[in-house]
Amino acid sequence: MTQHTITGSPADADERRAAPALVCYEVDRLPPSGLELYQQARETLRKVAEVIVPPRDGACFEVPAGSFFRITSVEGSQVGDLNLWNLHDFSERFFSGKTRQLHATHVSTGDRLWSSLPGLRPMATITRDTLDWYGWDADGGGVHDVIGTRCDPYTNYLLKEIDYHYCCHSNLTRALAAKTGLSLGEAELHVHDVMNVFMCTGFTHDTHQYFMKASPVRPGDYIEFFAEIDLLGALSACPGGDCGSSNSDDSATCYPLKVEVFQPAEGSLPGWKSPERSGYSGTHGTSPGNDLKL
Ligand SMILES: [Zn+2]
Repeated sequence: MTQHTITGSPADADERRAAPALVCYEVDRLPPSGLELYQQARETLRKVAEVIVPPRDGACFEVPAGSFFRITSVEGSQVGDLNLWNLHDFSERFFSGKTRQLHATHVSTGDRLWSSLPGLRPMATITRDTLDWYGWDADGGGVHDVIGTRCDPYTNYLLKEIDYHYCCHSNLTRALAAKTGLSLGEAELHVHDVMNVFMCTGFTHDTHQYFMKASPVRPGDYIEFFAEIDLLGALSACPGGDCGSSNSDDSATCYPLKVEVFQPAEGSLPGWKSPERSGYSGTHGTSPGNDLKL
């Protein structure tokens, strides 16, 4: 928002500002999340894989549909930047903006991570969050935001004119390239706006600017997800550490993050099936019989 207002207020400014605020979407019409079913299934979990994400680095992991994955703080307070793709089609990926609009600026137990258009389906559902007690603090901050994009070397260069190579954007790019065999340039194009796991953020009350503060996460805390579709995930252990002071440099103390994949017992998800992509026709108003071939 501009700090250089040059337009005088109209006579009815107060009236215009007093229009009622409406939640944009009819979110009570979202399909039910299946959280109750998942809570039962998670009692039967068996660990099938583990990946340690080193500090200031990234790593990939696969999660089959119907399995769970858990991101755990180990050794110290650390923020993680999460990307998710449809394992079989990278053009379908986590849609941070729509997730924010359908849920809130920060997500927790029962919220879903939605995929990009034209898929627009739940990729993952949050089944447990040991920081769900945090709520909103006095600054308006919350945990696990879907506001921030990811720290990246381009913004860093814009502001500081130095090359720094271990921003989350670069960590995710290297991890995806290493996992898939794509070149760095190809992999980079698949990296997208993240879910900021464990990060404590908000907007300042006075200027509505994005702020961060030291994460309340402590070793042993975790956030857990149910994979609604076959997923490829990538997680970066942010160079900002707990993001209480800086990012995009080597000054913060950083710790690893642990990712574990769990399989529930067979038959523990009665009636569950992987969600379909959006049922929208995809014709975008073109006349019947003259559909664009997509
Ligand atoms: Zn970062």
